[in-house]
Amino acid sequence: MADVLVLCEHDRGSLEDATLEALTFARGLDADIHVLVCGELDDDGIATLGEYGADTVHVAEHDMFADFGPEAWGQALADKIEDLDPDAVLACGTSKGNEVMAQAAARLDVPFVANVTELADGDIDDDEVEMIRVQWGGSLLERAGLEADTKLLSVAHHSLEAESADGGAPNVETYDADLDDSLQRTVCVGRDVAESGVTLSTAPVVVGGGRGVGGADAWGPLEQLAEMLGGRVGCSRAVTNNGWRPHSDQVGQTGTRIAPELYIASGISGAIQHWVGAMASKKILAINTDMDANMVVKADYAVKGDLHEVLPAIIAEIEARRG
Ligand SMILES: Cc1cc2nc3c(=O)[nH]c(=O)nc-3n(C[C@H](O)[C@H](O)[C@H](O)COP(=O)(O)OP(=O)(O)OC[C@H]3O[C@@H](n4cnc5c(N)ncnc54)[C@H](O)[C@@H]3O)c2cc1C
Repeated sequence: MADVLVLCEHDRGSLEDATLEALTFARGLDADIHVLVCGELDDDGIATLGEYGADTVHVAEHDMFADFGPEAWGQALADKIEDLDPDAVLACGTSKGNEVMAQAAARLDVPFVANVTELADGDIDDDEVEMIRVQWGGSLLERAGLEADTKLLSVAHHSLEAESADGGAPNVETYDADLDDSLQRTVCVGRDVAESGVTLSTAPVVVGGGRGVGGADAWGPLEQLAEMLGGRVGCSRAVTNNGWRPHSDQVGQTGTRIAPELYIASGISGAIQHWVGAMASKKILAINTDMDANMVVKADYAVKGDLHEVLPAIIAEIEARRG
């Protein structure tokens, strides 16, 4: 059986969901799954790693892991790769995951394929495999060949849904990482949260508006519906180009990638640059006057009509049902 090492992403001990996507992908490789944790992870986090399929969790301890430092994490990962000699090393393709993988790859002088969505040909313990990866913000799927004893790859973020394996408690092996002080050149020393509460990228519901909204002063129903559903308002680039909403609301290739449970896309045609930012939504409801619009064709549900009539009707129906 193959061996796969997964990088655990966490924020000062709190497990990040991205790790669960990498673990879900790893389970499809028919391998023993090892996880590397740089620094302390809380007990719930360790249990969750087991639940999602980790067989063994290697916890590297060092003062340098008090907060995130890509060089220290990269060196610890490189050392663990040399120690375990796995067939593959996975991380989720977040900025943190890709940065640490690039650090490890450079330190070991081995190839690294970022943002993979699936293994297209071969088994992970073959000398050579082919995989599909996303490029250009998701608008291009590339078939990439990789020839290496140890294959380093990151899994495109939001390209699959994390699923529990109902696994039990993993073996935990704690050790002291041997790190040089020079690895402290890049360390996170503070954070300013630019936005608090539900953000566009984490909102469970996004109510999106496009050119069809018609102007800067017509967003009342979208704001109201988003608030009722505990979500956020998003928009297309046509909207930000017109100055109707700030760029921070833009969904798409040059905006924010969203992955809500529900995306209500109203008056949005669904151009490819918008779609790549919205395609990870679990369900999409399109509201459009044009039933041939790309967003309508791709949506799970569609309502044909003027959004200025449909959105108030949805709000009224929710209010009526909630009493
Ligand atoms: C390099 C590059 C990067 C880009 N990045 C992004 C990006 O990040 N995000 C993004 O969104 N776009 C991006 N774009 C722009 C993208 O190509 C589209 O131009 C844009 O998404 C269109 O916005 P829209 O759907 O709001 O407008 P339109 O394409 O004009 O569509 C408006 C839709 O509203 C419908 N409609 C009109 N009136 C009503 C009504 N009253 N009720 C219901 N429906 C109605 C119409 O039928 C139509 O389907 C990018 C383009 C380029 C070249």
